[in-house]
Amino acid sequence: MLPFKLVYSDAYYLPIGAHVFPAEKYRRIRDRLLTSGVAGAGDFLEPQPASDQDILLVHTPEYVQKLRTGTLSPHEEMEMEIPYSRDLVEAFWLAAGGSILAARQALQDGVSISLGGGFHHAFPDHGEGFCMIHDVAVAIRRMQRDEKIRTAMTVDCDVHQGNGTAVIFAGAQTANSPLPSVSSSAVRRHDGSRIAGKQRETLASDVFTISLHQHNNYPLWKPPSSIDVDLPDGIEDEDYLAWVDNALSSGLRHFAPDLICYIAGADPYRYDQLGGLSLTIEGLKQRDELVFRVARTRGIPVMVTYAGGYAQNVEDTVTIHSNTVIAAKEIFSAAATPR
Ligand SMILES: [Zn+2]
Repeated sequence: MLPFKLVYSDAYYLPIGAHVFPAEKYRRIRDRLLTSGVAGAGDFLEPQPASDQDILLVHTPEYVQKLRTGTLSPHEEMEMEIPYSRDLVEAFWLAAGGSILAARQALQDGVSISLGGGFHHAFPDHGEGFCMIHDVAVAIRRMQRDEKIRTAMTVDCDVHQGNGTAVIFAGAQTANSPLPSVSSSAVRRHDGSRIAGKQRETLASDVFTISLHQHNNYPLWKPPSSIDVDLPDGIEDEDYLAWVDNALSSGLRHFAPDLICYIAGADPYRYDQLGGLSLTIEGLKQRDELVFRVARTRGIPVMVTYAGGYAQNVEDTVTIHSNTVIAAKEIFSAAATPR
């Protein structure tokens, strides 16, 4: 029995036909966890779809109406890069419901993983890059509305920048926040490396957004997160892990989240078809362990979603995502003292 819950439904499957996004990965991850004995049937919770009211905490009424009535323009559908259908709408509402459930469980157990979600390229008024609805943002806003949290931090380690996240939470800044801004030097390397960590020169928000991503990759326009770490092509495990550690430490020096939302993309993997970094499967597991260790040591609940993963061999993507559960099991089963 795991010391936390996994959130999953067979209906996470995205009905998008033959596509670079391996929609069957969700079921395969669930199967792998069960057959390998990492998890048992009792470790899983089945989510309910988010309500329209939940979705409207993040998305505009006009956009939700278009999705509900099948009236996206050809341009809007093209930008989403997945074929619109009513069934696809249902799958995204369910992904948002899964993230809400995972957030709630994380607040109860310290950690929870939804074997799906992480659709960080969805904007309030349109979808992009395989993302229709920003499930993580919906979960954060729902937890805030229910007064279960006041603040949250997104830690986005997908190889692609979290543009939707940045825009959604940039709009939430308040003029009276006591939180200081982080200086850009806080995430610059001691050796003066050209990798530039950038910090938004604006007032603090109730949601602090961190994105570590490949600079030379989608999206072309990268709206500023609270911390963006623009990684060079081909970066390997050691340097990458140092940057994750650096960004987390920097963010947590300046912001005290009630919940961490970890977007655990599998696409920084060296054999990813849509990524240009050079991480190994083991390096990605170490990344997961690092995030979990920091969250546990500081007593901050962490909810996890999976986002992208386009390895040439889908089995590698399944392994990387399954390892995230193994990493959580290792860190959250261990004695309470930091390792
Ligand atoms: Zn991605």
